[in-house]
Amino acid sequence: ITNSDTFSLERSHQLYQEAQQLLPGGVNSPVRAFRGVGGEPVFIERAEGPYLYDVDGHRYLDYVQSWGPMILGHTHPAVLEAVVAAGQRGFSFGAPTEAESNLARLVIDCVPSVEMIRFVNSGTEATMSALRLARAYTGRNKIIKFSGCYHGHADMLLVQAGSGVATMGLPDSPGVPTQTTQNTLTADYNNAAEVEQLFASYPDDIAAVIVEPIAANMGLVPPEPGFLERLRELTQKYHAILIFDEVMTGFRVALGGMQERVKITPDLTCFGKIIGGGLPVGAYGGRREIMDMVAPVGPMYQAGTLSGNPLAMAAGIATLNELRKAGQYEELERKGQRLEEGFNKALQDNKVDATFKRIGAMFCLYFSREAVVDYTSAKRSDTQRFARYFWSMLTSGIYLPPSQFESCFISLALDDDMIEETIQAAATSVNA
Ligand code: PMP
Repeated sequence: ITNSDTFSLERSHQLYQEAQQLLPGGVNSPVRAFRGVGGEPVFIERAEGPYLYDVDGHRYLDYVQSWGPMILGHTHPAVLEAVVAAGQRGFSFGAPTEAESNLARLVIDCVPSVEMIRFVNSGTEATMSALRLARAYTGRNKIIKFSGCYHGHADMLLVQAGSGVATMGLPDSPGVPTQTTQNTLTADYNNAAEVEQLFASYPDDIAAVIVEPIAANMGLVPPEPGFLERLRELTQKYHAILIFDEVMTGFRVALGGMQERVKITPDLTCFGKIIGGGLPVGAYGGRREIMDMVAPVGPMYQAGTLSGNPLAMAAGIATLNELRKAGQYEELERKGQRLEEGFNKALQDNKVDATFKRIGAMFCLYFSREAVVDYTSAKRSDTQRFARYFWSMLTSGIYLPPSQFESCFISLALDDDMIEETIQAAATSVNA
């Protein structure tokens, strides 16, 4: 299958027309509708390794990876085998299984700040539950989040959220009562002074600070040196809980997540995406003393019919076991470096004012000449130019997130020739 000159998405178009009659916007998650790039979505038929195959017969190198989970590439044989084997033993029991302890042990081994963990079904559930736990533990109500950080769609967190909200330019969502968000304080990413002021104003009321240790729902904004360290100091000083939302960065930028890279120990960590290997899994975990608040040991209620689902646990275990093999993150870093060099050369050769940002196997190309350090600066990017770049890449067989405000992901299935192919496509697309 090759992407011909007469690139047509006719079948996708037909399916999209039908889907729009049945599903709001034809999708089950807004950013999939391609509104951020002014077009219609591509409908996917199947995926294998580094590739996605659409319903019109095109093949793409996949840099979305289902928004992060597919770090090994699609239908990885070990993961597939584990899921099939688990399925043969039953799909769901709503009763304890050994697999839950096995995945828990893997996460706990890889992420030292996590002494105990509770599995849920999505990143949204993970952050919502971690905040309930922080509030239960501290007996306080207020939380601090950062503008442009997305932590899922729980009411209290739909304040200055990035991701699809950024893409769609939506205000804080209707349907969220102000009572629900009045305890949500916001600060600018990379601005610890603002956090300090909030703590000074409410020294006894702040239960938690929740942060993406790399902000990846407004493109890719790394923490500036000292920012996360200062959050750790302030939360300790004011006896508040520091929550790292590593739904995206967990097992992505290192086996131990971003906390391993920056050597900071949060009180609680949220996971999602990779720990489910492409099946619906989220988790929150941390210090045992805090986790002991969770029911049935403690009074903080949180539950789930399908939580710890055996198929999902099997996919997670198989995925983490692959990632634990020697050299995997070095290999991701090497691939990332190659891409970075290629993209930067393409930008220079074409004299394009854009900035390539990368940490490990995550990257983003901002069509902006100024430094992107927070939501305000991220939003100054030229989204029209991004859209032209996006469509040019797509027709060259490179599938990127359909929004300037999302991160791209590199998978282990991507080989050097594919990286070269991507750089070639970028060379003709950055000026599209
Ligand atoms: N936190 C972060 C950092 C995320 O990136 C996301 C989703 N992209 C979520 C939470 C929510 O996860 P989910 O979509 O699985 O609910």
